[in-house]
Amino acid sequence: MFLGFMICVTIFQFKREKKFSELKVHELLQNYNFQLHSKYSPTIKVDTMVEDFINDIPEKNLRITIIDLKGTVIYDNTHQAKYDNHYMREELRYAREGVNSYAIRTSKTTGQHYFYSASYFGNFIFRCALPYNPKLIDALAINKNFIYFMLFILLVYMFILSRFTLSIGNTISKLREFALRLEKQQDPSSDFKFPNNELGDISNNIVTFYNLHQRVKHDLMVEREKIEKHFQYAREGFAMFSADGSEILSNILFIQFINTFADLSIYQTEEAINVKELAPIRDFIKKHLGKANTRVWRHAVTIDKGGKIFLIECILFLDDSYELSINDISRQEEESRMKQQLTQNIAHELKTPVSSIQGYLETILTVKNLDPEKEKYFLNRCYSQSTRLADLLHDISVLNRLSEAGSLFELKETDICELVDDIERTCSPEMEKKHITFTKNLANHPIIKGNYSLLYSIFRNLMDNAIAYAGTGIQISVRCYKEDPKFYYFSFEDNGVGIPSKHVNRIFERFYRVDKGRSRKMGGTGLGLSIVKNAVRFHKGRISVKSELNKRTIFFFTLKKYISIKETKTEA
Ligand code: ADP
Repeated sequence: MFLGFMICVTIFQFKREKKFSELKVHELLQNYNFQLHSKYSPTIKVDTMVEDFINDIPEKNLRITIIDLKGTVIYDNTHQAKYDNHYMREELRYAREGVNSYAIRTSKTTGQHYFYSASYFGNFIFRCALPYNPKLIDALAINKNFIYFMLFILLVYMFILSRFTLSIGNTISKLREFALRLEKQQDPSSDFKFPNNELGDISNNIVTFYNLHQRVKHDLMVEREKIEKHFQYAREGFAMFSADGSEILSNILFIQFINTFADLSIYQTEEAINVKELAPIRDFIKKHLGKANTRVWRHAVTIDKGGKIFLIECILFLDDSYELSINDISRQEEESRMKQQLTQNIAHELKTPVSSIQGYLETILTVKNLDPEKEKYFLNRCYSQSTRLADLLHDISVLNRLSEAGSLFELKETDICELVDDIERTCSPEMEKKHITFTKNLANHPIIKGNYSLLYSIFRNLMDNAIAYAGTGIQISVRCYKEDPKFYYFSFEDNGVGIPSKHVNRIFERFYRVDKGRSRKMGGTGLGLSIVKNAVRFHKGRISVKSELNKRTIFFFTLKKYISIKETKTEA
């Protein structure tokens, strides 16, 4: 831009300079015209007058012409034989109109190039002309100093400009580098020192704001992480939703609890609000949503289902997002009752086989001449009771290890598809006998880093129970219905006899059986589901059950994709 401007100024100045030097020559010739006119008289001999005049001036080759107003040449010191009419000559045309003018052109009379200057004096026009020779060219040459000056200004300006653009360019390329690093999601934290100029200040501010933004983002992430952890470890079910009802955050207990009390089974957190039992919460949200609330609204309801009481609380925030929390308020009572019962149960469970072994052995030892057939029968009974005792002790030891020494369990990557296939193969003779079909939907191919034998126990116990208690001709299906970055969500379903609602919430208790006699006959210890629950907890998950009599039983449970040694200390 500056170069363009300089060129325009130079051309303009150049033209002015040229005009100026031309005017100087014009002025000189005008002066000669005046002198000649003052000396001229029709009575004197023009030739002598002109010769005298030329003798007095330095320009010896001056051409002098006198023309009348009709363009006829009256006198010309080149003394040609014939002169054309000069009426239309450029300089004369203007001179006739009273403007003393000049022209640089080739003479049509002599064929030579001249600088003409004409002056109008009433009846005549006096015209002096100088041949356009090197001397005249020299006189017309413009002052070079001006060009040198312009060049000097240009150089100085270019120098300043280059320094300036270099410093701005530096700042801009640093800013660009900074932006590129951000775009490539690299850490731009390396020291960005910007030059000490206005743009540098702005850039420094941008970087400062960026760092501030990053810090705030990091702090927010930490806060979010805290909330997530709190959600994860809380004993309540939590879920946060945006104004349009989509999930922002939830913990695994949320779906579990909903499925515990709702008639409808849900598989996605967003479906929770549609369950019939949450109608009062739904109405509350509808009433306040989008009403430009100026305060945070709260609403709570309690649901009593199968002996369990849930407190459901909804908090509607100012931005129309809302939180649902579900608290199992019957659990605390239940836990203390369970602890009391546990010791009694263990004693009771051990007592039964021990006393029957004792009884049989006593009979063998005290009855003389016992029939060898009978003796063999009693010994067999002793053997099966001791196997039962061994099973019981094994289950108790697994449970104890789970609650006391979780870190003793070895962790490795376990392919759940393979594990389920293995169980299916083992159980297939029993399933065939009872005309049971089995389907699995593990399309997302869950792989869990956990303890193989505990994971096996989970699926195996659920499978054994379904085969043992759900009835014949039923269908069993296992599904991984959801996955989030940390957890897999499974369902294990059978369409068998179901569990009466008064028992459904107690089946995870140690030694709890729906039908004691039947369970014992099936070889059950009453600890199967307790092991399942604790093994799920060991894998940082939660389990719940939902059952409808003569329709179906579904277990919903979550398993963490990856558990570390540190995490393996689990609750009893
Ligand atoms: P058990 O050793 O008696 O099998 P569990 O803890 O495994 O103990 O199961 C507790 C009770 O839950 C069982 O006695 C049984 O009555 C009931 N149960 C478990 N799974 C099912 C099912 N799929 N269908 C019906 N009843 C079941």
